[in-house]
Amino acid sequence: MKLAMIGFGQAGGKIVDRFLDYDDRTNSGIVRAAIAVNTAKADLIGLDNIPQENRVLIGQARVKGHGVGADNELGAEVAEEDIDEVQNAIDAIPTHEVDAFLVVAGMGGGSGSGGAPVLAKHLKRIYTIPVYGLGVLPGTDEGGIYTLNAARSFQTFVREVDNLLVFDNDSWRQTGESVEGGYDQINEEIVRRFGVLFGAGEVGDGQEVAESVVDSSEIINTLSGGGVSTVGYASEEVELNTGGGLLSRFTGNADGTDGLDAANTTNRITSLVRKAALGRLTLPCEIDGAERALLVLSGPTEYLNRKGIERGRKWLEEETGSMEVRGGDFPRNEPEVSAAILLSGVTNVPRIKRLQQVAIEAQDNMEDIQAESQDNLETLVEDDEDELEPLF
Ligand code: GDP
Repeated sequence: MKLAMIGFGQAGGKIVDRFLDYDDRTNSGIVRAAIAVNTAKADLIGLDNIPQENRVLIGQARVKGHGVGADNELGAEVAEEDIDEVQNAIDAIPTHEVDAFLVVAGMGGGSGSGGAPVLAKHLKRIYTIPVYGLGVLPGTDEGGIYTLNAARSFQTFVREVDNLLVFDNDSWRQTGESVEGGYDQINEEIVRRFGVLFGAGEVGDGQEVAESVVDSSEIINTLSGGGVSTVGYASEEVELNTGGGLLSRFTGNADGTDGLDAANTTNRITSLVRKAALGRLTLPCEIDGAERALLVLSGPTEYLNRKGIERGRKWLEEETGSMEVRGGDFPRNEPEVSAAILLSGVTNVPRIKRLQQVAIEAQDNMEDIQAESQDNLETLVEDDEDELEPLF
C-alpha cells in the first residue's frame, strides 16, 4: 500500500523519517511521499531523511520558529492559520499514486497534538482517499499537561480521521530506561509493525507474489468504519533457503496439506498468531470485541502456507468475536517469519479510560491553581496594612 506520510511535530517527524529509512532498508515501497510539519525550526533541521523541500515550518509569525511549548490549542490555531503552506508541500507530491494519507503525531505535545487533527480534517475535505492517523500516547510519567493534551487530542483526532492507529509509549518503555533515551528503539518498533502491515501487497521488483495476497483494498476495508486500532506483532527467526534441496523440507506436499514439515509450518504460524494477538499490542486493550481484523504473515515463501493462515484467521475470529477477519501472506526474503495483526474498531481500552481520568484531574487542578493565582499574587505583592504606594 502506498502512503503519503505527514509527520506533525517532533515525534511525528522523527517517526516518518524512520519510516523512510525502513523503506530504504527493506525495499518495501510504502512511503510514496514524506512531509514533516513543525512550529520548531530545530526539530525540522534534526531530521535525516525527509527531503528539505518537504519540511514545512509553520507559525513563524506567532512563534518565530521556537515551537508552541506543549500548548496544543496554539498548535491547532497555528495549523489552521498556515494550512496553505502545508497544502503547498502536498501539492508537490503525486497524490494520484497514493492509496491513503497517514498523519503521524505524538499526542502529548503541542504542535502535533493540536496540528494533526486540523490537518486530518483539511485532508478529508479535499481528497477522496482515506486519511489515517498514527497517534502516539505519552508515557504516564510525563506529567499532567502531556496527559491532558493527549486526552484532548485523542478525542479530536479520532473524530477527524478514517481510523486512528494508536501507539502507547508507556507500554513500550524499557525498565530502567527513560522514555526519552529509548525513543530510537521505540521508533524502530513502530516502523517495523506498521511497515509490515502497510507493506503487505506491495510487490517490489524481484519479489515473489504471495499465495493469498493481502492487497491495499483489504487494509482499507479493515480500517474502514473508523474508530481506533491497535497492532500486535510476533516473529521467529528461521533459516533462509539458500538452495540445494532445503526447500522441499519446508513445503511438504504440493497441496500444502499433509506431511510433517507442512504441519510444522502450520503450527509455527498459528503459534505466532497467538503470540502476536495476546502479547504486547501497540495500544494495550481487550481484543474481544474488536470489530475487524487483518492478519499478515510475512517471511520466506517456504515458511508460509494457506492452512496456517486459515487456522490463524479462525482462531482470531473466535478470540475477537468478529466476523470480519481478513488474512494473507507477504513473502519476504528475510530470515524470520512474522505475524502482524491489525485489530480495528477496538472499544474495550482501559488505558484510554485511565488517561481520561488523569487528564480530568490535571484539568481541575490547573483550573484551581489558576483561580487562586491572582489572589496569591496580590497577597504577595501588597503589604498587609496597605502602607506602600506603587510608583505609578
Ligand atoms: P510537538 O513537537 O510539540 O508536537 O511535541 P513532541 O512531538 O516533541 O512530543 C509529543 C509527545 O510525543 C511526547 O510527550 C512524547 O510522549 C512523544 N514523543 C516525542 N518524541 C518521540 C519519539 O521520537 N518517538 C515516540 N514514540 N514518541 C515521542
